[in-house]
Amino acid sequence: MMTSKGRQLQLYTGGAAEPAAAAFSPADTLYAHANPDGSRKRCQACALWLVGLDQCWIHNPDVFVSGDMVCGYHVFGRPLTVAPVRENLDFVDPEFSGLTLVPGGSSCDTCAFYTPQGMTEGTCTALREGPAEEHPIVAALGCCTKWTPI
Ligand code: SF4
Ligand code: SF4
Repeated sequence: MMTSKGRQLQLYTGGAAEPAAAAFSPADTLYAHANPDGSRKRCQACALWLVGLDQCWIHNPDVFVSGDMVCGYHVFGRPLTVAPVRENLDFVDPEFSGLTLVPGGSSCDTCAFYTPQGMTEGTCTALREGPAEEHPIVAALGCCTKWTPI
């Protein structure tokens, strides 16, 4: 079943009718390469997470955001220890950011669209059907907004 993170992509691409024959473009799904420290995508490894507060800087402080959540705006980095000024900040809506609880974090190698080809990479069938040789190569620890748990 597709998570809200996956549904978010449908908003970006204009609905459920996906261009099955279109060439894969990483930008279509906000594909992000593997985190440099080998971690999976999650708030605990995001530069916008607020340590100790269970908040995200770009979401409203009323929104509970644990370290095992993730959203489509993930930016790898060390979480914040002090909340930056939020004045004039227009908060991201969790319904649209795809904020989702994913224990352990998300990555291509835990995605239903992933077929491994070795330890560090594999192919993605999300946007292109057809012969396997036409499926784009993605990093095992990469991720995108179309991530769907196995
Ligand atoms: S909700 Fe998104 S942007 Fe905020 S800390 Fe988590 S991954 Fe980063
Ligand atoms: S395998 Fe899943 S998470 Fe990785 S690029 Fe494809 S759809 Fe996105």
